[in-house]
Amino acid sequence: MCRHATSRRGFFRDIVLGSAGASILELAARRAAWAQAAGPASTADLFEIQNVADGVYFAYALPQAVGNCNAAIFVNSTDVLVVDAHSKPSAASSLIAQIKRQITPKPVRYLVDTHFHWDHAQGNAGYRDAFGKDLKIISSATTRKLEAELLEPRLRASLDPHGHPFSSQPHIPVMLDAARRQLGAASTEAERAPIAERIRQLEAFEREMRNFTPVLPTVTFDKTYVIQDKAHDLHVEFHGRAHTAGDVVVYCPQKRVVATGDMVLGTLPFLGDCYPKEWPKTIDSVAKLDFDRVCGGHGTVGQGKQRMMNQRNYIAELAERVEKGKTAGQPLAEIQRSMPLASIKAFAAGDYGKLMTAGRDEAAMQAAVNANIEHVYNRLGKS
Ligand SMILES: [Zn+2]
Ligand SMILES: [Zn+2]
Repeated sequence: MCRHATSRRGFFRDIVLGSAGASILELAARRAAWAQAAGPASTADLFEIQNVADGVYFAYALPQAVGNCNAAIFVNSTDVLVVDAHSKPSAASSLIAQIKRQITPKPVRYLVDTHFHWDHAQGNAGYRDAFGKDLKIISSATTRKLEAELLEPRLRASLDPHGHPFSSQPHIPVMLDAARRQLGAASTEAERAPIAERIRQLEAFEREMRNFTPVLPTVTFDKTYVIQDKAHDLHVEFHGRAHTAGDVVVYCPQKRVVATGDMVLGTLPFLGDCYPKEWPKTIDSVAKLDFDRVCGGHGTVGQGKQRMMNQRNYIAELAERVEKGKTAGQPLAEIQRSMPLASIKAFAAGDYGKLMTAGRDEAAMQAAVNANIEHVYNRLGKS
């Protein structure tokens, strides 16, 4: 399954630089040239900051070899609340620098983990290191428990060449092997530069996360945690199980914005830890709030409630159809075959299907939906 016989240096010598070999100095020079060729991409900001309301910003995560989640940023009268903390502490540090540079010099006093997933909570240490004891890391009690139980073992599996990572997590050694093979097959410098940059990012992630220990939330609650500030109120709320057992949203009534993590987002939802029968009801509850903008954990900002309801209907449709098949004793593959893209009604609503497809060809999109179906199949009945 994994190719590990070739050392990194050996790989570059044999595959990238040709069988004649190269000294480590030559290799270093070549890699420096690649880094230079990659230009600002290797040092550029990881987020694009967008203003969504007065004192409310959205940090849209730009593509990376190991992705980050988006963040929502609420500027209070004397400090800042940030929603979600990305896949690594250095990504959090990078956003902190952008906040200072592009938004406000006020310190981040509150960080909310919407849920326990790696791409939302592994960066907690970046905020803790920058703001120390003054920082409150807020989550539901369930999310804190899940972070304590699952963040570290799931990360270890994703860094272990022989590990079996949880399905949402990138298997770093396998990705590195694939990228190195691609690099070997590339024939021009223009082709090699982005692959080399991808390898650089994967190696940097592996180095940074090798000795990772989670920094857990310091403030937990069951239903609601309210921050009343002169600028606005911020309600951190648990509306029920959805994408995970512990998702919360951050709602600002005065600014009419809700930050939803991965419960409601602008990309195809991930269902590996979800509660498919409860998730639509949880979205119904969130939809009763009064807001204009939805800042999700991935994808672009949602305007109004339509996209949220389309996603609600997609999950409800999947849950209903998969449950029907499973109850009737149909094997998973048969259920998947019975649900071609064209049969999924939720995708026909407005531009929801097109938005979820996100440039994938039909086969890739069907594979993505099949993965959703498999997760629903496995998650049905989980207590
Ligand atoms: Zn998630
Ligand atoms: Zn996520």
